[in-house]
Amino acid sequence: MALVNEHFLKLPSNYLFADIAKKVNAFKATHPKADVISLGIGDVTQPLCPAVVEALHRATDEMATQAGFRGYGPEQGYDFLREAILKNDFLPRGIHLDINEVFINDGAKSDTGNIQELVRWDNSIAVGDPIYPVYIDSNVMIGRAGTVEDGRWSNVVYMPCTAENGFVPQIPDRRVDIIYLCYPNNPTGTVISKEELRKWVNYALKNDAIIFYDAAYEAYIQDDSIPHSIYEIRGARKCAIEFHSYSKTAGFTGVRCGYTIVPKDITAATLTGERIALNPLWNRRQCTKFNGTSYLSQRAAEAIYTPEGKEQVKATIGYYMRNAHVMKQTLTRLGMEVYGGEHAPYLWVRTPNNSGSWQFFEEMLYGAHVVCTPGVGFGPSGEGYIRLTAFGQQEQTEEALQRIETWLK
Ligand SMILES: *Cc1c(COP(=O)(O)O)cnc(C)c1O
Repeated sequence: MALVNEHFLKLPSNYLFADIAKKVNAFKATHPKADVISLGIGDVTQPLCPAVVEALHRATDEMATQAGFRGYGPEQGYDFLREAILKNDFLPRGIHLDINEVFINDGAKSDTGNIQELVRWDNSIAVGDPIYPVYIDSNVMIGRAGTVEDGRWSNVVYMPCTAENGFVPQIPDRRVDIIYLCYPNNPTGTVISKEELRKWVNYALKNDAIIFYDAAYEAYIQDDSIPHSIYEIRGARKCAIEFHSYSKTAGFTGVRCGYTIVPKDITAATLTGERIALNPLWNRRQCTKFNGTSYLSQRAAEAIYTPEGKEQVKATIGYYMRNAHVMKQTLTRLGMEVYGGEHAPYLWVRTPNNSGSWQFFEEMLYGAHVVCTPGVGFGPSGEGYIRLTAFGQQEQTEEALQRIETWLK
């Protein structure tokens, strides 16, 4: 008898965005004429920039010739892209990495979900709360998260990120083995300072813990005193693995490309205390389970690092950040308590009058015909907040704000 992996059955069957879609569809069925605007889903809307499109065309034409055709590429990614990453994302910040520490991926979701394979099933994990659901769910699937009750997993340490602590978690008072951090943060849109991040690196070094650091939104940072990479902190290469994605940086949600840094210095222990380097383990894992990101996507990603590419990508990010700025200004003027939106495309808004996340979601849907994401969908500490995204088109975003203003008045 083939037995199922029962850990999958513990996962709540409802996916947040499916629940939202169901409620929006119910509204549309009773209000067929209403024009609903979504400030909910975290996908980009602006087309690929010209430098990327040209690179895609060029790479496609190359593949059409006998001489230029490429089959399987290196599992770790092509050196042309790995070198561009070292030269543009790290060297200017004084970070010297080896090319073999860079692993090109097909987007950060895969690797943030897969990385937990490198550590034993009985490690303890801690997550910022609210969080990107992949971190916990991927641990649930292999049985590391325990059982769920009232939206909390028994083997997960939840570190609340709230207005009270500036959305940066407190260092836990007990030892944890694995810590997931994401800055700039999805969903709260908030950032971490170098000083705060240093505390985490020091905690990890002292407690022999590992930090999985998700930097998917680093391109949105507008102030260079805020760390773009955890490796800006001394000692981080002994304790941190970092994930990057071109999805939000350059609209690659449909193209698929990103990268993961696994430093050669990072190790984990065996039960007998032997130190094992994780870089060769991850390399082995990738060579077995991953056949590389497409050549086309990697050429497209390389184009982001050309002078034109950099400028064009910056312009698109500027477009989203203008949305974020207008959203923040308007909502603040309307008396709302708004966080984030300065170095990230997300705004985290406290629901007025202590109403619950889902209650406010429905009120705004029915009152303003605007869709948001209920904060509680990202974890228990998200209750009493909603997330708005700045990824919309400018006209629609402004229209949505107008409606919210009319509704609130
Ligand atoms: C969007 C996102 C990612 C990246 O997703 P990919 O498209 O798979 O690269 C990673 N982490 C967070 C927190 C995100 O919001």
